[in-house]
Amino acid sequence: MWHRHNIAGAFYFGMRRIPQWLIVAVLVASGCHHEPTSSSEFAAERKKMVEEQLRPRGIRDQRVLVAMAKVPRQEFVSQNQRGQSYADSALPIGHDQTISQPFIVAYMTEQLHLQPTDRVLEIGTGSGYQAAVLAELAKEVYTIEIIEPLAKDASARLARLGYRNAHVKVGDGYQGWPEAAPFDAIIVTCAPDKVPQPLTQQLKEGGRMIIPVGTGLDQQLYLLEKKGSELAQTAILPVRFVPMAGEAANK
Ligand code: SAH
Repeated sequence: MWHRHNIAGAFYFGMRRIPQWLIVAVLVASGCHHEPTSSSEFAAERKKMVEEQLRPRGIRDQRVLVAMAKVPRQEFVSQNQRGQSYADSALPIGHDQTISQPFIVAYMTEQLHLQPTDRVLEIGTGSGYQAAVLAELAKEVYTIEIIEPLAKDASARLARLGYRNAHVKVGDGYQGWPEAAPFDAIIVTCAPDKVPQPLTQQLKEGGRMIIPVGTGLDQQLYLLEKKGSELAQTAILPVRFVPMAGEAANK
């Protein structure tokens, strides 16, 4: 009887007897902290993010939802944050910068009304995640990052993931990218205190620009539409981005 109980109550690992309670405790503990590691687990998390964070908050553009369900956000966050890849928040990417919350990425992208033939300019490459989402939807993406190591990492990451239509440049995005202008759409992911003139000049007639404007905590996301000599501006959402560095900060 004792012998039977002993066998039922323990597992043998090599020559060592491991009590059942310890195995149960380890399984429970690992279950509590289970983080996705395989690409299928990340894909499931991504689908959940689309269904729970994007759709209920009004993201409707099917192409944007498909792109958000496709781009592997875990490849754009630092190794120790991978388990948080699809959390409903911004995450640190080093150099005091952050990758934006998935909803903000989807929202700003949707506002651009991108066509597969469009050429897009992004200011503030950061991790390259927003650029990858844009690259799923537009023909060419030009993105500028002022912090050199971030630009280099993002460029390598985008190439490794096969985004041949995403072009990264190190520099001050205040001046835009005149050699590649004009653009059908411009997205700015750092906040100047007013819209940089070179960017409005590099926007095509009929083009759309989405840009956070303001200082400190007092920022608004603006949608600018270029119609003839007019630049229609609509404030659409209070937001919080890192300030635009470089020329914008020295004015
Ligand atoms: N779009 C990024 C997140 C943006 S974080 C992503 O998907 O990960 C804002 C980024 O803007 C930071 O990396 C910051 O270094 C960059 N930035 C700030 N001022 C800039 C400027 N003047 N020109 C280009 N990039 C700038």
